[in-house]
Amino acid sequence: MRFVVRLGTDCNPTFGGKSPEILTVLDTLVLSPDEVCGIVVGPNCGDPYNPLDNWNVTFPNVPQPAPVPPIPPKPGSPTLRVLHLSDTHYDAHYKAGSNANCGEPLCCRQDDGVPANTSDGAGKFGDYRNCDTPLWTLENMLQKLSAEKDTFDFIYWTGDLPAHDVWNQTRQDQLNILQHMVSLMLKYFPGKPVFPSLGNHEGAPVNSFPPPYITGKYSISWLYDALAQSWSNWLPKDVIALVQKGAYYTVSPHPGFRIISLNTNYCNSGNWWMLINTTDPTGELTWLIKTLQSAENAGEKVHILGHIPPGDQGCLKAWSWNYYRVVNRYQNIIAGQFYGHTHYDSFQVFYDETTLSKPVGVAYTAPSVTSYPGLNMGYRFYTVDGVYKGSSYQVLDHETFFLNLAKANVEGKITWEFEYSAKATYKMKSLYPSDWDNLIKVMMANQTVLETYNRLYFKSVHSGACDYTCRYARLCETRSARSSDPSLCKDLKV
Ligand SMILES: [Zn+2]
Ligand SMILES: [Zn+2]
Repeated sequence: MRFVVRLGTDCNPTFGGKSPEILTVLDTLVLSPDEVCGIVVGPNCGDPYNPLDNWNVTFPNVPQPAPVPPIPPKPGSPTLRVLHLSDTHYDAHYKAGSNANCGEPLCCRQDDGVPANTSDGAGKFGDYRNCDTPLWTLENMLQKLSAEKDTFDFIYWTGDLPAHDVWNQTRQDQLNILQHMVSLMLKYFPGKPVFPSLGNHEGAPVNSFPPPYITGKYSISWLYDALAQSWSNWLPKDVIALVQKGAYYTVSPHPGFRIISLNTNYCNSGNWWMLINTTDPTGELTWLIKTLQSAENAGEKVHILGHIPPGDQGCLKAWSWNYYRVVNRYQNIIAGQFYGHTHYDSFQVFYDETTLSKPVGVAYTAPSVTSYPGLNMGYRFYTVDGVYKGSSYQVLDHETFFLNLAKANVEGKITWEFEYSAKATYKMKSLYPSDWDNLIKVMMANQTVLETYNRLYFKSVHSGACDYTCRYARLCETRSARSSDPSLCKDLKV
């Protein structure tokens, strides 16, 4: 036996319901325990040599054009407005008044019963304890956004639809949630273009996304076939075969503008299937480069969407570092990157690979709709330069809205409030990568600004007060657009 996994009888949310799959993966492995630890946990394992961490994607033999900083649009130029919804985690079994302190990874559910102490009762519209989104709160948000639908052009929808009851989700449960959510999106936003990405919670068990060479009973086709059908409500026919193969795609909604939606489950260290072979699963990054090269040749600007931010510690090092290289190479045409997954409102700056000091890109991590764990609920709008000939498609500003859950539960009614505009709150001239890099420097020097960022990070659930450990964590995350790279934070002044 090369690697020992303790398969307990509890409901560990990471491995819940996974035992037969893990055993199948381990049976196929040729890695030592240290190597497995290095891939899954990262540098905390003492950085053991890891043969699967060592792959590089190939770039076409085309010289990189000289970097051209984005040019601000002329005053009065047209703009696009994009709604970003992420991590809805809708819980069909949410019950107001049920036990919110149930001791399981997810509470506030019908089965949790009525608590002895009324203060343990689940809030009417949601709860700060381990609870997900009730249908009535979700629909309230969708109704509000539906009434405003003429004020935005399309929707980025970056995954994690099911609740966190990861220990007992069947494939059918996941498909039911997918279908229900898609029917809600169609009901509230008829005719509105929606560009979805796949979350890690859509798998059954959670995080399980076998690559296409896994066939038979563990094949992922049960999910990707359903996605292909659901997403065909918004995507053209010619991308459906790729969705069935790998759950990623590219579309061009306007001439000169391209959207690429990635399936980041192939960078997820929680996806045990990646231990068999992490090397560019399904050829996704090779495809990404090919797509970006065609976009460069055609003079297009590109937005990239996905679920797990590529710098997240849960994103496998090799994938993450290759992606960083891709952003460096195509920095002139990648005008925006939009992710979710963490549930926190944050950003990560990409730097040039040689000096790690010149900003070349920025990725936004949008706040989650769900309040899990201990947050307010939220959603985001981006104002984008477009759509006219020669638009840069750069993000010009973003505005975040939130639901103060404590207030809603006391008042007995939901009020979605404007939380902040990035440009106004941080006094930014524009939202280009250099402006975000500059904000990091401002936050290093000015604790008040850092604490504002920290308050918004948690969707204003607390004041934002931030001690040394917190300050270091916030700042280091903003610089870490690739995972497992302590050197990105080495010169932070906290
Ligand atoms: Zn999530
Ligand atoms: Zn997620």
